[in-house]
Amino acid sequence: MDTILRQITDHDFLQEVLSESTGDYYFIGDIEQDIFSVSQNMADDFGFPDKQITGLLPTWMKLIQPEDQERYYKAANDLVSGRKDRLNEEYQVRLKNGELIWIHEVIRVKKNAGTGRPERVVGIARKVENGGKVDLVTGLYTHEKYMDRMQKLDDSHPIGIMLLGIDDFTMINTLNNHSFGDLVLRNVAQDIRNMLPESALICRFDGDQFIIVYPDATREKLERFYENVQSYTGKVYISHGVHYQFTISAGAVLYPDQRGQGDDLLKCAAVALRKAKLNGKDKCVFYSAGMLSLQLDEQRKIQILGESIRSGFEGFSVVFQPVNDASTLRVCGAEALLRFENEACGALSPVEFIPLLESSNQIIPVGRWVLEQAIIACKKWTVYIPDFVMQVNVSYLQLRDKNFCSRVEALLKEHRLLPKHIVLELTESYFITDSERINDTLKRLKQLKIRLAMDDFGTGYSSLGRLTDFDVDIVKIDRLFVKTSNSDRYNRDFIESVIRLCHNVGMKVCIEGVETGAELNMVNRLYADTIQGFYVSKPVPEKQFFSTFVVKPFDGSMLLVRQDKAATIKKILGDKELLQLLADATPLCLNLWNQNFENIVCNKEAVKLFGLRDENEYLERFFELSPEFQPNGERSDIMAPAKIKEALETGRAVFRWMQCPCHVCCGIKTCNLSPVIRKR
Ligand code: C2E
Ligand code: CA
Ligand code: CA
Repeated sequence: MDTILRQITDHDFLQEVLSESTGDYYFIGDIEQDIFSVSQNMADDFGFPDKQITGLLPTWMKLIQPEDQERYYKAANDLVSGRKDRLNEEYQVRLKNGELIWIHEVIRVKKNAGTGRPERVVGIARKVENGGKVDLVTGLYTHEKYMDRMQKLDDSHPIGIMLLGIDDFTMINTLNNHSFGDLVLRNVAQDIRNMLPESALICRFDGDQFIIVYPDATREKLERFYENVQSYTGKVYISHGVHYQFTISAGAVLYPDQRGQGDDLLKCAAVALRKAKLNGKDKCVFYSAGMLSLQLDEQRKIQILGESIRSGFEGFSVVFQPVNDASTLRVCGAEALLRFENEACGALSPVEFIPLLESSNQIIPVGRWVLEQAIIACKKWTVYIPDFVMQVNVSYLQLRDKNFCSRVEALLKEHRLLPKHIVLELTESYFITDSERINDTLKRLKQLKIRLAMDDFGTGYSSLGRLTDFDVDIVKIDRLFVKTSNSDRYNRDFIESVIRLCHNVGMKVCIEGVETGAELNMVNRLYADTIQGFYVSKPVPEKQFFSTFVVKPFDGSMLLVRQDKAATIKKILGDKELLQLLADATPLCLNLWNQNFENIVCNKEAVKLFGLRDENEYLERFFELSPEFQPNGERSDIMAPAKIKEALETGRAVFRWMQCPCHVCCGIKTCNLSPVIRKR
């Protein structure tokens, strides 16, 4: 009997039986000795040389996806130090064959009865079911899983549906290094999953939204859960050394109090979430029938818009806002903006009626009409301003329309306007889509030589690091960033980084929402290409635009009284001859270049110092001679300003800005008059 018992409890044997029958991974270990025994499938799948492992944690950490390492390490540390006796985490690990899988791991720790210190540990890791239903960013199920679960609604089992949305997620997402937003989403998703009862379901919905299905729900239970979410979001978090803070709003609905299918209930939760956000965010709103009147009002407006379209776009009009060269304020183009006004509902803002046109699919004919009005106006204006460029907003639904490109092409032909006069404005999310049809449209537009602008940059989901991956010609930085940028370094740095990244790859940058002279000055100092904003003009009707900005050259000098040093430097740096004169006139060794590296010059001293053949060799090898990093690992362009200060003050600074043999160089790349090289 004793032997049999020993055999059954023999964990090796037990592990094999369990792993064979379930496919899960098992391990058992002694924390103090740091010795672990893992199941055979775990050793095989992850490439462990043996089932017995010393130091499982460091070995395991190496297999964990970098985004999950920090969170996992913290959870494991809580176990080892005895602060917690249970770990419950979902994360991605890499199998021996290179494949990345999501696993759900539960670890329990047994403490020593005498010392109270953690002694034994048992863990089970289960592959998270995939089949296309797992979102790879967060590890949560996708919306599809929610729909599966809602197939089995039953009146006698009340459930709560809650839609959670991270407030102002965009700020977290865009202002950090690439994929930081994804990392935050992943952490939030997993932390919220941990707050829910086992029987609840959490799925990723759109972007920064999560759907929760809460079984046996009551209003009180949901409120308590949301309070937990709120106390979770009330703190400052650090990930990869970056501090961030956020709040979460929620919309909730209870079934069967509210009847309907999965989709209907989700819509109710979405209406409630919208209300929560409109009411100032960081709150949970329960859906009530009263909210329906909001929807009814929307229905009425959709109907009015539809009738207007059918009667020849009555009530619709297009206004134009100038787009100006940032340093001279010359009018180089305009953005066409749609307006709607009608007796029954007065003037509606496009922020309100565009989504209504989209939800009712009426944006397609309206979008086409706007484009035609814009093309007609542009054709007239190019007579006076030959390089005039008209920028037109395009909705997601228009891009999905398979006839879109041929219509654009036909309109240009019909009005005899060259494609170079048109820029289509699309928001960030269009460029990160997986939709084949949209990607095809974007490709086709490129073939037609129609330029694309990324609108409202900084408010969507993509991050700075990915910006230059997109095939766009112009990036328009949302007006959110110009607003506080004089006082707020964060925004200024953001604008500056975007400009630098874009210029490096030949993209132009437009700053939206410039309202004051101070803002224009700031934008100029950062070398934006164009600006748009109330400082020059609000959007105006076609006739007014023509008389103010087209028929006679717009005199920006009145607005440019504060044109400053930065603009002068920009001008000098734009003139290669002037740059060469400057370099040759100094006995010092000097190299100069402008923002876009179009004009690079160096003098004889510099050639000598680098041991080069002549100036041409310097130009050819410019990038090779400029290291991105310093030997201490710091970015050269970040270190440069301090180094030049040091050189000017002490006459010497060791800075490998150029790979010159003496290493006694310094530069001021950030202000674009760079770098001055001094001899020892
Ligand atoms: P958007 O594309 O970002 O357009 C710029 C918006 O910023 C315009 O608002 C413009 O009036 C406003 N704006 C420009 N300069 C300033 C400034 O200095 N300060 C402030 N506070 N605002 C400024 P508008 O005309 O109300 O349009 C709002 C949005 O509606 C547009 O944002 C665009 O997303 C959408 N929209 C407008 N017309 C169309 C259209 O024809 N098609 C589509 N799909 N969307 C459109
Ligand atoms: Ca726009
Ligand atoms: Ca915009």
